[in-house]
Amino acid sequence: MPSSCFAPGCKTGYRSEVKKLKAEGKKTPCMFRPPKDKIEEWNRRIPRSDRSLGEKDVLCALHFVPEDIITTWEHTGPDGKKAIIEREKPCLLPTAVPCIFPNIPSYLSNPIKKRKAPTKREPTIQKRCNRERSQQDGVPDGETAPLPTVDPEFPDFPMSPSNLPNDPSPPETCIYNVQPDISSIKLPGTMWGVHTSPELTIFCHLDALRQADKCVEFRQENPDPTVTLRGKVVMVEQGIKNKDDVEVMLQNVHAIRLCSGASPGKFSSACSTQLHAENPTPRRTNTTRCKECQKYRDTLQKRQRRANARATRAVPKMTPLARCTQQKRRLQKKVQKLETVLGETMERTVVIRKTT
Ligand SMILES: [Zn+2]
Ligand SMILES: [Zn+2]
Repeated sequence: MPSSCFAPGCKTGYRSEVKKLKAEGKKTPCMFRPPKDKIEEWNRRIPRSDRSLGEKDVLCALHFVPEDIITTWEHTGPDGKKAIIEREKPCLLPTAVPCIFPNIPSYLSNPIKKRKAPTKREPTIQKRCNRERSQQDGVPDGETAPLPTVDPEFPDFPMSPSNLPNDPSPPETCIYNVQPDISSIKLPGTMWGVHTSPELTIFCHLDALRQADKCVEFRQENPDPTVTLRGKVVMVEQGIKNKDDVEVMLQNVHAIRLCSGASPGKFSSACSTQLHAENPTPRRTNTTRCKECQKYRDTLQKRQRRANARATRAVPKMTPLARCTQQKRRLQKKVQKLETVLGETMERTVVIRKTT
């Protein structure tokens, strides 16, 4: 089981973070594994494009609304008294979905608006049992009659999560169709355009090189549009209910500052595409690069400097005296060579003269 949280930018479970929290006297947030039938849905909610959530991944409690996390057992004893026991390991409501991602811009993370839960909740099994009994005994509903003995069918044990009543309020789903509003939606700038087909609506923005760098894609079967920055899916926007929501979202996407890369055309493979508050105290102010690309640029520059240094070392500058000395040595070598050749030739001449 992976020990660190799957959410982008979240450090829960990192050794350094555990140490830090311990030093501050805080508890590490608990971890939850996705229920098998919810992996797809959780995946859609998590703004992470490099990897998709697997059965063995975990998410920490920071990404759920507190109402979705059950931290106690509510237990009605045989005497009708309610006891609240702290759970050793908190668990999630069956309807819980991750919706809070504090390490990405806040407008990219919005808790799903849930319908208000009905004030009258389904009673627990124990309570229902009591009520049935009290109705049989003629005791009005709502009052619990004391039980004379421990019911053998409901022994004294805490309820397992599967016994928990299902949350009767499923997340609100609003199917908003953007197509009828297209002509009246105000685009955030002149470089924005919209493309439509029967099942697809794409708002996109062109950069200085006339390439689409920001896209917002609505699919007919899915009310939540996908935001893509330079081809990377960065998030799925939720809670779009009308034309105004679309305009606000487009404005937000328009305001995202994109990373300018390490150098023209070069981006770090870990480029986070957008510039945001990941680094509140940047080394350089007015930076136009993400942290990864800045690091990559520094590496490229260091490499270039080293290469330059090597090139200058290859042709060292010489003093005039050294240059003359070197020339003299070379010429002396040449003279020596020529002298030996001359000697050999003279010897050969003598031999030839004798024979003829
Ligand atoms: Zn986390
Ligand atoms: Zn970058």
